[in-house]
Formats: sequence, structure tokens, C-alpha cells
Amino acid sequence: MRQDFLPFARPSISEEDVAAVTEVLRSGWITTGARCNELEAAFLERLGTERAVATSSATGAMHLALLALDIGPGDEIVTPSMTWISTINMIVRLGATPVFIDVDRDTLMVRPAAIEAAITERTRAIIPVDYAGAAAELPTIRAIAAKHGIPVIEDAAHAVGTRRRCGEEVGATGTAIFSLHPIKNITSGEGGVLVTDDVEFGDRVRRLRFHGLGVDAWERGQQGRSPQAEVLEPGFKYNLPDMNAVLGHSQFKRLDGFIDRRRDLALRYRERLEGVPGILPLGDSAETDRHAWHLFIVRVDSESAGIDREGLMAALKSRNIGTGIHFRAAHGQRWFVDHPDRWRSADLPNTEWNSDRICSLPLFPAMRDEDVDEVAEAIRAIVPSTGGVPA
Ligand SMILES: *Cc1c(COP(=O)(O)O)cnc(C)c1O
Repeated sequence: MRQDFLPFARPSISEEDVAAVTEVLRSGWITTGARCNELEAAFLERLGTERAVATSSATGAMHLALLALDIGPGDEIVTPSMTWISTINMIVRLGATPVFIDVDRDTLMVRPAAIEAAITERTRAIIPVDYAGAAAELPTIRAIAAKHGIPVIEDAAHAVGTRRRCGEEVGATGTAIFSLHPIKNITSGEGGVLVTDDVEFGDRVRRLRFHGLGVDAWERGQQGRSPQAEVLEPGFKYNLPDMNAVLGHSQFKRLDGFIDRRRDLALRYRERLEGVPGILPLGDSAETDRHAWHLFIVRVDSESAGIDREGLMAALKSRNIGTGIHFRAAHGQRWFVDHPDRWRSADLPNTEWNSDRICSLPLFPAMRDEDVDEVAEAIRAIVPSTGGVPA
């Protein structure tokens, strides 16, 4: 058995990351300023889009995007239930109604036909998710949305660096939100970045990020503007401090290397787990040209594995191997069960099947090939090779 605990995720912090943050701490300006501008510029340069707004979290960015669309009571937002709860919480807190649609059983991606079927005259936004770092079918989804005049906010929390079949990187067109949380592919400690090709929308998100002021603290302090900037509309406070932004930028420079390493590890998992009964990795989405491999997910089908998801996770933990669940379906969470009047839903058979079975295995760039082999060997030892219910 492993001597040291293998977590399911661990950020890769280099000495350059440490030096960059230290420099900010010593500089006399630690909140949002030049370093945040540089992070935003790096996203703009890579993606070639119009606006990038860094925020204190992707959840905050989603809140701002919904506010900038004037989402409120009576509005419906079409989104999968198989997503992180942050999106659904923001929708509900604005008084709007999430309308849950099912996902593909093997890729966990929303299907364009399911989106179209859920659209009503109250639909005000569509939020697809690039699950696990693969690409959702955005070109088709955007065509449907455009036909109905509905904006799309791509939840790309898992998909910094993901490339679509059409050759375009996620975030290059439309509106997308990335997360820089420590378990994501690159991190700023906490943080998010909204990118958009809609200038007016991006500028409104930027303003709402900082009290609704026409300019932010940095501009007021450093560029000789009036310290009493005008509130153009009431806003929030979701700015990303330079301490965090500089870390995010330093990590962003290493993004491609991180993804390459994640891909090698993921493909090794697939190879090592092939043929284990009841351990079913996600399938490939045809829309993906380059997978960012944020997560390596398997579904534990107890009928053939002879053990259920909770049993497998506990057995791996006792062997010093960490796992995670991304995610439990939103509509099954306590508050949503208790408030059926606050959401609507299509039938969700694939969502429910996966919600009970998905499990994320350890995957981070600093993992060794042997770590993957050990996890796979542990799973093979836990799952009886013949499958079936253990005696
Ligand atoms: C992590 C995550 C978010 C939220 O990101 P934060 O930066 O933690 O707010 C949103 N959606 C999905 C799918 C995520 O995985």
C-alpha cells in the first residue's frame, strides 16, 4: 500500500509562482491593479476575444453575467442539473427558475436537442457546461440560441485550454467563464475569468464587478482620476486582488504543459483500467479536438463491479488514495427537493444514473506514471475480477 496519501487534486506551485506572489506582497499594492490587468491581457491575447474580466471566483463571474443580462423573477435559465451547484444557486438567488435538462449518458454533456425542447417564451439564458475539460456542442447550441434570440453563457470552469473540433479554443467566441480555483487546471488561489466578444456586455460585467463604478480602485489611484468615481449602477465586489492575479498569470504561462501531462496520465488510466468490470470511464465527445483533462471520471456500476461508488471510494481511501464526486445532480440536493416550486425539469434519467455512480480519480500534473498504475491496481484488487455481488 502507498505510504503517502494521494489526493485527487493538487495545484502545481513552482518557485516562479512563489517569487511572483512574493514580489506583489513586497510591492506596496496587493489588491486589484496592474497584475490583474496583465492576467486579463494574457487571456485576451491567447483567445483573441474582446473583453476579459478577472473576478474573485467563477461563481462571482456567473453572478455578474446573470446580472448583466438583467435576469430576475419569472425568467427561466436552461442548464444541466449535472453541474456544480454554484450556477444553480446564483440563478435561484436572482429569483429566476433553473430549467434542468438531461445530459448524454457517456460524456455528461448537454445535448442541443434537449436544450431546444426546454426553451419557452420565458427562457432568458442557456448555460452549457464543458464537462471535465472536454468541449460541449457550442456551435450547434449557439445556432439554436440565436434562432430564439437567447444568450449563451458557457460554463468553462473545467475548460481553460480546451479546443473545439472547429479549431477554436473555448472562450475565443461568445461568452465563457473560467475558474481558477485550486482544483482546476490553473489556479490563482481563488479566482475566475469571464471572457466575451460582446463589448457592451463585457464592460457592464466589469462595472458590476466593482461597486458599479465607472473605474476601479487601481485606475482611481494610479491614473490621476477623481477618487470619487461615479456609481453608474449598484454593483458587487468581485474583483481579483493582484496577489491572486499574479499567481493565475504565472500558472497560465504553463497551461499547455499542464494539459499535456494531464492527457498522458488520463490515457494511461484508460489503458490500465480497460476491462475492469463495472468501472466505466467517460466517453469522448465528438466536439473536442483538445481535451483539457480537468477530471478523470469513472462510473462505478455496482451490478458488474460488485461494489458501489461509496464502497469503492472508501476502499481507495483506506489504501491512501483520494477521490471526489463531480457532481451530485443539483435537483437531488436537499433544498431543491424541499423547494420543487423553485425549479423545473425534464426527465433526467442519464443525470440520475451518473449522479449515483460518478467518481473522480486522482489527476494532477505532478502525479507520476506509477501513481496511475497504483490507483488502477488498487481498483483491480477491490473489484472482484468476475464482477457480481461479493459474498
Ligand atoms: C468550479 C466550478 C465552478 C465555480 O468555480 P469557482 O471559481 O469555485 O467559483 C462553476 N462551474 C463548474 C462546472 C465548476 O466545476
